[in-house]
Amino acid sequence: MKDKIKESYRQLIVDTGIEMLDKGITVGTWGNISARDPETDLVYISPSGMDYLSIKAKHVVVMDLNLNVIDGETEPSIEKHMHIAVFNTRKDVNAVVHTHPVYSSAFGTVEQPLPGISEDFIQIVGAEVQVARPYALPGTAELGETAVAGLGDNNAVLLPGHGALLVGTDMKMALKVSLVLEKNAQIYLYAKMLGGDIRAFKQNEIDFMQDFARNSYGKKNKGA
Ligand SMILES: [Zn+2]
Repeated sequence: MKDKIKESYRQLIVDTGIEMLDKGITVGTWGNISARDPETDLVYISPSGMDYLSIKAKHVVVMDLNLNVIDGETEPSIEKHMHIAVFNTRKDVNAVVHTHPVYSSAFGTVEQPLPGISEDFIQIVGAEVQVARPYALPGTAELGETAVAGLGDNNAVLLPGHGALLVGTDMKMALKVSLVLEKNAQIYLYAKMLGGDIRAFKQNEIDFMQDFARNSYGKKNKGA
């Protein structure tokens, strides 16, 4: 198995951690990141409790889909159950990001689903993001189960009293989902303050936007 390990994936985890700090997606050592190499099904995950700025490629832990550590000189993130549970359930997902965002977490705290009120959210996150229920303690296999159930076919799920879990076909997309989720939560809260009715998208509009995102968006520019 060790001969299948790719340094580029280890570096991806290092670079993504720094990008998360730069974009203000997470603070301190909180949050964790993983990527699956679809060719080998090996998972590259951030180490437990290390500052993102001190993580080097050698600290990234390589695991298989049965939670076995294949290589790594540090402990994997305590949320390994949650990351691996997603990869075992969603074959379309190759990157998982877990964050502790402010605005989206407000919805998880009151256990209220976050409806998609912006087009970008509908396109890459889902029509309505759910809260993982019931509450499960961090680092437990139970949290993995509730997170996967709450995620469904969406690309984000809210973890009550904890944070959010974002997924994507690749790391670029998972990070984009993270930013769009937080932006949508912020807009929703400001819109509520304005006091008017928040316009809900109709099902045919949701279908149109999701179909566009899947089949047309950016396709013409690929390879150009
Ligand atoms: Zn957490």
